[in-house]
Amino acid sequence: MPFERNPPMTAAPVIVLFRRDLRLADNPSLAAAAASGRPVIAVYVLDDTEPHPIRGAQKWWLHRSLLKLQAALVERGSFLVLRRNNTSAALADLARETGADLVHWARRYTRAEIETDQLMTQDLAAAGVTTKSFMGGLLREPQDMASPSAGGPYRVFTPFFRRLSEIGPAACSAPAFERLMTPSARPSSESLDDWRLLPKNPDWAAEFSEHWRPGEAGAWAAADAFVEGPIASYAEQRDIPAIAGTTRLSPHLAFGEASPTALWNFISAAGAARRLNIEKVLSEIAWREFSHHLLHAFPQMATTPLQPKFEGFAYRDDAEGFRHWTRGLTGYPVVDAGMRQLWRTGWMHNRVRMIVASFLTKDLLIDWRRGAEWFAQTLVDFDPASNAANWQWVAGCGADAAPFFRIFNPTTQGEKFDPQGDYVRRFVPELADLPAEHIHRPDAAPAGALAAAKVRIGVDYPAPVVDHAEARRRALAAFESIGPPVASRGTRPHVQ
Ligand code: FAD
Repeated sequence: MPFERNPPMTAAPVIVLFRRDLRLADNPSLAAAAASGRPVIAVYVLDDTEPHPIRGAQKWWLHRSLLKLQAALVERGSFLVLRRNNTSAALADLARETGADLVHWARRYTRAEIETDQLMTQDLAAAGVTTKSFMGGLLREPQDMASPSAGGPYRVFTPFFRRLSEIGPAACSAPAFERLMTPSARPSSESLDDWRLLPKNPDWAAEFSEHWRPGEAGAWAAADAFVEGPIASYAEQRDIPAIAGTTRLSPHLAFGEASPTALWNFISAAGAARRLNIEKVLSEIAWREFSHHLLHAFPQMATTPLQPKFEGFAYRDDAEGFRHWTRGLTGYPVVDAGMRQLWRTGWMHNRVRMIVASFLTKDLLIDWRRGAEWFAQTLVDFDPASNAANWQWVAGCGADAAPFFRIFNPTTQGEKFDPQGDYVRRFVPELADLPAEHIHRPDAAPAGALAAAKVRIGVDYPAPVVDHAEARRRALAAFESIGPPVASRGTRPHVQ
């Protein structure tokens, strides 16, 4: 293609729209623009009218990640344009200002996003600008993964994972480039600081930077740390919240700082080189994929139970219980540790996410959508698909869900997965001096042990907000009122 190798000096620029793909490597829309040899204008649009606008804790992450993307583009002789507007309007303005006649972007897969992008294509076409979309942040696009038996989307994880493992992820895009061509005139950009993404007064994200390194290099540092460390013991240690036994890649994946395909290949190669069985970690990445394919097929999943009989479920409107839960003041130490880890670090260990979600939806009988919304505001790895799928899974109303009657006991879960109480001690410091045998049942600890640890129940640490045994009975009665239990086809292997 002679035009692409040696473009005329007057070639119109290509705009590359960055969204949740804040990376240079394995970024098909950027790679294609770079390969065209035309000047490239990289732009990020902060758009509050988006179907899934960036909110809460993710604003902190976005600020940091955009700084890194900006720096990486500058290193390659380019720049990042920042605009705050409706995306369609921002792109039309930018095209008019620069003479660009083509916009590249990564495809997205929720129904609302697909519709938004279709409208944007029409709007831009009316303004004389062509759009071209590329594979987005998945291993496989939904149309590649229809269930051979049913013809439609997979509703059960195990066959989905089997199929995904057989066909593997789609190929990575072209290799990284050294330089990007830029247009002769540089378009104006807003200042990232003016977007005020970082919280102030109070700075509730003060501790985040101790735990996270947003950006592409940070994503690969996390991947390196995983293959040099926990990869060998992932299957055994991934459920122990006191141990850093998982990849911690979720926020990097949520912002597309590394592609799932590149990570899948990297982890697979590291496992093969050392003859490790890495199926477990690949299966977790596949759960992310499964969630995205489910949300694509069932757009109502974010707000409506996938099992229709749950639509009339009598959740309780318990404002006080919800407040105790959000603040980590339920009187159940592992629940409180999880909710405080979430608030302090923007992340919570997966095992504990299941425990706190079960506690909210079953012990407190509060609607899973309220919990999902709290997570959406507080998680740096918030992902509309994974969040909805997991909340529905724990609440028992999802596609491939745990049966409702499987109710986690927050005390025994704590004892099983945090036997020494190290996780609780880290996030619930008022219990730090209680010995391991009492730390998950402080209200039942002998007076002497409580006095020695300087814990007064109801003063220094709350009494349980509900009695688990009674709450369990109440939840089962509520469940029975909507119909007989349906045995789950759930295949999630690490349920209790
Ligand atoms: P690892 O164990 O290292 O797993 C590797 C990757 O696999 C993760 O980065 C993630 O992308 C994916 N993954 C792992 N477990 C799951 C899972 N159960 N479902 C989907 N993908 C998974 N994950 C999110 O990314 N965003 C969310 O908003 C989110 N909300 C959740 C809500 C609830 C109630 C529960 C129970 C789980 C939720 N998860 C969510 C899934 C899971 O807890 C996190 O992905 C995981 O804890 C991230 O840590 P990690 O990267 O170290 O995971």
